[in-house]
Amino acid sequence: MAEPKGGVKCSFCEREKQDTTVLIAGKRGHICDRCIEQALQLVKEELNERSSSSLYKAINLLKPAEIKKHLDEYVIGQEDAKKVLSVSVYNHYKRVTQKAATQEEDVEIEKSNVIMVGETGTGKTLLARTIARIINVPFCMADATVLTEAGYVGEDVESILTRLLQAADYDVAAAERGIVFIDEIDKISRKSDNPSITRDVSGEGVQQGLLKLLEGSFVNVPPQGGRKHPDQKMIQVNTRNILFVCGGAFEGIDRKIAKRLQSQTLGFGAQKGLEDLDRNNYLQYVSPQDLRSFGLIPELIGRLPVVTHLNSLDQKTLRKILTEPKNSIIKQYVKLFELDGVKLTFDKAVFDLIVEKALEFKLGARGLRSICEAIMMDAMFDAPSEKETKDLHITLEYAKAKMKRSAINRLKVA
Ligand code: ADP
Repeated sequence: MAEPKGGVKCSFCEREKQDTTVLIAGKRGHICDRCIEQALQLVKEELNERSSSSLYKAINLLKPAEIKKHLDEYVIGQEDAKKVLSVSVYNHYKRVTQKAATQEEDVEIEKSNVIMVGETGTGKTLLARTIARIINVPFCMADATVLTEAGYVGEDVESILTRLLQAADYDVAAAERGIVFIDEIDKISRKSDNPSITRDVSGEGVQQGLLKLLEGSFVNVPPQGGRKHPDQKMIQVNTRNILFVCGGAFEGIDRKIAKRLQSQTLGFGAQKGLEDLDRNNYLQYVSPQDLRSFGLIPELIGRLPVVTHLNSLDQKTLRKILTEPKNSIIKQYVKLFELDGVKLTFDKAVFDLIVEKALEFKLGARGLRSICEAIMMDAMFDAPSEKETKDLHITLEYAKAKMKRSAINRLKVA
């Protein structure tokens, strides 16, 4: 670079070279030691401010029973899953916080990633999301079916961590102790048994990629995600303290469990065990070995040592889900109307109708909201502009009439 008139100067404070201790040359100018120090101070202050203003300053490490109590406020039933998850989360974060405090390495507590088996719409995501909120750590979810091996159409496994970083508002330290929920894990089976597939794009390659994350390693994560920004600077994320919770329906797994139990309990003196089995719900006996026949590689199953199940939702449970959780669908509608100064009430029979329709349409808990929307749409359209409406009572007749006219009937499963 050409030397400016009157000798070399710091481009920031314009001090002459002889007045500085060190003057560093860059492509377009110079910087002196004093300006470097000032800049460093500014960077430190900025970083400090950012980490102390982080959404996720400290983990709220509650005891398992306390975690479960909080879960009870939001999730109906699913007692086993709640208990197992509360214990796993407690152990995981005890490990994370103690490690940070003592740096002791003598007894290495391995992390216990969790796998939840249960039909879609039974509350797997809700459980994982709620627990992350209770202990105040970032949470993100990903669908395993959209993941592909690097270089193929679809999302790279690393994109999961992009989402976690985004959820943590790019606070890397917070993201590194977050919870990731990976749904539909049962759908990324190994397909190598099929000779017509020469490259296993969606199966084993993805599982190997996930394995790397689950095991705990340093991963370079594109902060904007995807492959659209090839020159973005990667952020390194250590997955060691990230808790992975996987979920899947594993359709037909109950038959496999039943078969295993029957073969296990055959033999001398084993008949008693077989008699004690609850034949209406084999899912409660699910174990890692039952997952193998779904094409999950043993290494991946090994990294998901905690297995639990969610029960399917019956009429009684759906009815509770509609009104009981702290932020139940009905409570949300009441709140929405309250904001417009309208007191919303329902005939109890309306709730039964909603549940009945959700069961009839085979929509599960997710259907409750669509059915409510169908009933409430006109009222939600009109109420905000009607000044004289102060009370709105939804009767069974009103609900039935709205349902009849709604497009929701098309959702009916044949
Ligand atoms: P999954 O992840 O098992 O497919 P979700 O957790 O996404 O199911 O559940 C879908 C919706 O159904 C949730 O947003 C929630 O409103 C409701 N829901 C499902 N199961 C329960 C439950 N056990 N308690 C309360 N709400 C539930």
